[in-house]
Amino acid sequence: MRLVLLGAPGSGKGTQAARLAKRLAIPRLSTGDMLRAAVSEGTPIGTRVKAAMERGELVPDDLVVAIVAECISLPDAKSGFILDGFPRTVVQATALDDILRAADLRIDRVLELDVDEAALLVRILNRADEAKVNGFARADDTEAALRMRLEEYRGQTRPLADYYRGQGLLKSINGLQSINKVANSLLEALDA
Ligand code: ADP
Repeated sequence: MRLVLLGAPGSGKGTQAARLAKRLAIPRLSTGDMLRAAVSEGTPIGTRVKAAMERGELVPDDLVVAIVAECISLPDAKSGFILDGFPRTVVQATALDDILRAADLRIDRVLELDVDEAALLVRILNRADEAKVNGFARADDTEAALRMRLEEYRGQTRPLADYYRGQGLLKSINGLQSINKVANSLLEALDA
């Protein structure tokens, strides 16, 4: 099964992607995690993307597309994967379609976690506070970067819902339910 999980920052996407990946026994490919790893390892890519990430801006499409193309060609992604944080722009989505088409593959389902903006800002600011206490604060969890991440989502990523709806692939799930309920709703959406 090849899945895309769409959702704003704070929508619970990372949590649900990890649970789904375990349940379906397929890898979770998180571009956010990959890029953060590149930054902390100080690789050339990490050096290139650090500033944009800290501001909450998207990093260049060509760069993320290249990273994902490599990941989905690896043996452990052969039987499927869950993309978490990618695609985030229509350019990335069409690039993904092209990569998969060349391998005679396609996306089976796109799951969207729907959470209204007021709830998102509260959630991410709380998460940032908790992370600070635990010593796991992300460089892009400042209020300014969070607002930028939401703006990027609204402007660049939200239109992807229409893109995938047009392909008949989109299922939208209420992300304001409890973590377990959201997880169940996602599984039901896959069975449907
Ligand atoms: P969030 O919790 O804000 O959804 P992620 O962990 O998915 O965060 O991503 C963190 C940051 O990594 C983004 O704000 C962006 O700078 C960069 N990033 C991750 N995925 C992509 C992508 N597909 N395209 C461009 N930038 C990305």
